Amino acid sequence: MSGLAGRPAATAWPGGILQVRVPLPFSLKWVNSYLLRDGRGYTLIDPGLHTPEAVEAWEGGMAAHGIGYPEIHTIILTHQHPDHYGLAGWFQARSGAPVLMSAESHAYAQRLWGADGGAAFADELTALYALHGMPPEVVATMRPHLDGFIAKVSPQPEVQYITAGQVFRMAETDWQSIDAPGHAGGQLCFYAPAKRWMLCGDQVLPTITPNISVVPGEDDRQLERFLASLWELAGYDVELAFPGHREPFERFGERAAELAAHHERRLANIADMLRESPGSAYSVCMRLFGERIAGDAHHMRFAMSETLAHVYHLEHRNVIAGRVRNGIVEYFA
Ligand SMILES: [Zn+2]
Repeated sequence: MSGLAGRPAATAWPGGILQVRVPLPFSLKWVNSYLLRDGRGYTLIDPGLHTPEAVEAWEGGMAAHGIGYPEIHTIILTHQHPDHYGLAGWFQARSGAPVLMSAESHAYAQRLWGADGGAAFADELTALYALHGMPPEVVATMRPHLDGFIAKVSPQPEVQYITAGQVFRMAETDWQSIDAPGHAGGQLCFYAPAKRWMLCGDQVLPTITPNISVVPGEDDRQLERFLASLWELAGYDVELAFPGHREPFERFGERAAELAAHHERRLANIADMLRESPGSAYSVCMRLFGERIAGDAHHMRFAMSETLAHVYHLEHRNVIAGRVRNGIVEYFA
């Protein structure tokens, strides 16, 4: 039970939804996978990161619930992040099930873990961070950190593409897929109107805020897209939301509005900082996150890309502007 903070490995929800807590080697603790039962077997949502601990949890969980791998007839990925995508190929090999995800999500997975092993992506990411003031010794920690994920997403799945607007039959009810960008380009949420359930991936999380990252080669208006998506999702009538992390929750619309308010506060905070003293995105990142991320490449990447998402958004809103000095972008308000 290590890593799950005393919670059970799985929870059965009414209506044929089994929440499986798959352990993660990060401060996120676990990712929620969901098995949705119907007359043919199961649809598996977001199987988790490929680690020995996750495999052990799955083997124990499948046996405990009397589920055989061939009963999984469909695997759906809300998005491409490794903690959701990593075990998809492993499950496909055991079940023979098709793996469904959006083309945009898959393109990103290919750039990170495709034919070149993510080399071009790592070059672009490190160049971006250096341009925004990250010191060389910190930049140097990014490549090994990124390379460390390849084993955790292997073997990689054969994928079929799905799009927003398609309807999927899962747990004996219809689910509409909804484009939900910002946290991950191409992320899909799934809404069951007859049940008022929302499978929301990492777009709306209870008690923690989803990471919003600028990454090279993707739309650089991630925060703008995320905020627009939150307001759209807040309009759905939801009784129970099934998120990618933490626990299923009520108050979905209120939580979406809270997340939007959190980002507006952070935007104002950053604008104030830059009004007081101009600086690079890295300097803003350190002022925001400081000691909490020092020496940890994983946290540093999330914090730096999240800071860039906010800084770019302020720039698009014409609240701040940037100028390049000595090869580094300095922002001022
Ligand atoms: Zn994610």
